Amino acid sequence: MRYYSTRDTRQEWPVTLDAALAAGLASDGGLFVPERLPRFKVADFAGADTLPAVAERLLAPFFAGSALASQLGAICREALDLPLPIVRLPRIHGDVSLLELFHGPTAAFKDFAARFLAACLARLRRRDDPLKTVLVATSGDTGGAVAAAFHQRPGFRVVILYPDGRVSKRQAHQLGAFGDNVHALRVAGSFDDCQRMVKEVLADRPYASQHALTSANSISLGRLLPQMAYYVYAALRLARAGQSHSPMLEAPPVLVVPTGNLGNALAAALVREMGLPLGAIHFATNANRTLPDYFAGHEYRGRASVATLANAMDVGDPSNFERLAWFFRGRDLRHAGIHAHGVDDATIRARIVAGEGDWQQLWCPHTACAVEVVERLRVGGCQDPLLLVATAHPAKFDEVVEPLVGHPVPVPPALGALLARPTHSEPLTADAVALKARLEQGW
Ligand SMILES: *Cc1c(COP(=O)(O)O)cnc(C)c1O
Repeated sequence: MRYYSTRDTRQEWPVTLDAALAAGLASDGGLFVPERLPRFKVADFAGADTLPAVAERLLAPFFAGSALASQLGAICREALDLPLPIVRLPRIHGDVSLLELFHGPTAAFKDFAARFLAACLARLRRRDDPLKTVLVATSGDTGGAVAAAFHQRPGFRVVILYPDGRVSKRQAHQLGAFGDNVHALRVAGSFDDCQRMVKEVLADRPYASQHALTSANSISLGRLLPQMAYYVYAALRLARAGQSHSPMLEAPPVLVVPTGNLGNALAAALVREMGLPLGAIHFATNANRTLPDYFAGHEYRGRASVATLANAMDVGDPSNFERLAWFFRGRDLRHAGIHAHGVDDATIRARIVAGEGDWQQLWCPHTACAVEVVERLRVGGCQDPLLLVATAHPAKFDEVVEPLVGHPVPVPPALGALLARPTHSEPLTADAVALKARLEQGW
């Protein structure tokens, strides 16, 4: 399989998967996309009952011709061997299943993709390569997932930039708790400042190559590919269960995905494009209305982000929109079975408060946006089975959730272990020159 930049419209500059994984972003500023999407049927996955097994079959065409092709099975088993429960929710709103993506080491869905990317990059590394520094700007969850994935990996060091005071206390603790080859810098500024600093330093190509810098941001192809695998796994599980209840009658599940930078939800849309049984796809965003406004018929207009309770989705100009538009080029994206809905903070609070009574669930603020969309769909008359995606464990956002539900949220063991470790971060001014100076100082 060859890969192109979304901006290489005449497809003149093919790159290999391995080059695309190592580079992150294309040199023209575009995002890497595969030359075509393979087609699949449910029967193609016969006998594949675990996420690693499903992922290996799904991703084989994408890895054709890669130096990693023969190791794909091992990569999937190493990176994707995380619990992936599909929970049947109480039938107050018809048939709703919950896809829990938060059972990895940092309790958010980004663990799947970060671990997969790390497993690939570790295998692409040559013995005599210099120590690589993975630079990552985070609004809270990406940094932890990338840190956990590269922690104690020989040949790699992770430098995390996060906005001081603008991530949850537990997120901040987690970012500084790894130690060893992971270094946390708390920046006196916003997430946008952190991202700008990382981009500026990486855009200085001689500097980036001299210091062996690389990135692991959410637009990396190595993060998009594994995210498709859990949607295939879920679609297969529900299709197989549906057939045993009522052969041929069951409609494919309608999917509701908490959405920010559009990496997770794009993966779902691609799974449906590849022929697997998913119904309409609904993006649940917070008060950042770029996607809801676009799907309501307005021109696409990226804008500055606004801060909300669902902070990992505070994105005003979702990077992956460019990829979504590329995959649906020549078609009207607004008539492609994709919808977007904005949810404000007051409604997020209301859904968290009502969660235990209505659904017997504690919701994280991001998942709460999707719960609201589920309820709107039912009120609007949708009767299809629904698949609701949970992106983080509520214990990660205890400062929001606990005052609303009035009791402590039990902490999952992996997160608890990180929170029990000492934490350390260094202050940094919000400036690319300061970041370069700190990198040169070394650790
Ligand atoms: C990153 C994140 C999101 C948004 O995912 P995108 O792929 O950026 O759309 C949603 N929920 C949580 C908990 C996250 O960490």
